[in-house]
Amino acid sequence: MIDEEDGPPEPTPQEVEARAALVLQLRKQGLRDRRVLSAIERVPRRFFLTAKLQRHAYEDRALPIECGQTISQPYVVGMMSEALDVHADHKVLEIGTGSGFQAAVLGYLAAEVHTVERYRTLADLARERLSALKIDNVTVHFGDGMLGLSEHAPYDRIIVTAAGAEVPKALFDQLVVGGKLIAPVGASGGIQELVLFEKTSRGIEKHALAAVRFVPLVEGAAVRL
Ligand code: SAH
Repeated sequence: MIDEEDGPPEPTPQEVEARAALVLQLRKQGLRDRRVLSAIERVPRRFFLTAKLQRHAYEDRALPIECGQTISQPYVVGMMSEALDVHADHKVLEIGTGSGFQAAVLGYLAAEVHTVERYRTLADLARERLSALKIDNVTVHFGDGMLGLSEHAPYDRIIVTAAGAEVPKALFDQLVVGGKLIAPVGASGGIQELVLFEKTSRGIEKHALAAVRFVPLVEGAAVRL
């Protein structure tokens, strides 16, 4: 959890209003978890965008970020965070840092967050943003998230924010028994199914949640950018 006394810098009244309006809209769309809504309201999404796109920060839409990737739609961030049922004492792994926005939201929900990104540029930018916002329980790692992140395993919760035909086995291996994993599953370039997996003592249980569209999960760390 984030220390309240040491949180992000004071937002302008306009920004406070824009964030509250976004959260109200998310509530109308069916998001209910107060911890999740409050985390989304606290994170200045503007910080996670290039200057040119900042005026769209509090609209409920996905937007382009550096390296040809995208920052997820706030509704999808909320829906995934809610479904993942993150507790204040959890250790969470995210695959696909992108802008760092989802990781920042998770930082307000969990005790400890590790996020992995295959583009060094994105990992560096996300690290700078999270540090400027004093969200210091989130650690950004550069590498191939398809391998998971064994040095901090096991995780109570895992969230994959890029789409693959299947969830890499390494991720299930790094999840605690009783843990949950959420991921968009399906071919890239089209619509995928958002799936919530639960690791039980009997095996992996699967629940399909919604149709989503994510950028592809790509094997290996990027050589350029
Ligand atoms: N969660 C992000 C959105 C992610 S977009 C946000 O809040 O902004 C998906 C990200 O997954 C992209 O940045 C992409 O580079 C990354 N990605 C794709 N394959 C990956 C892999 N194998 N390991 C780590 N990151 C990966």
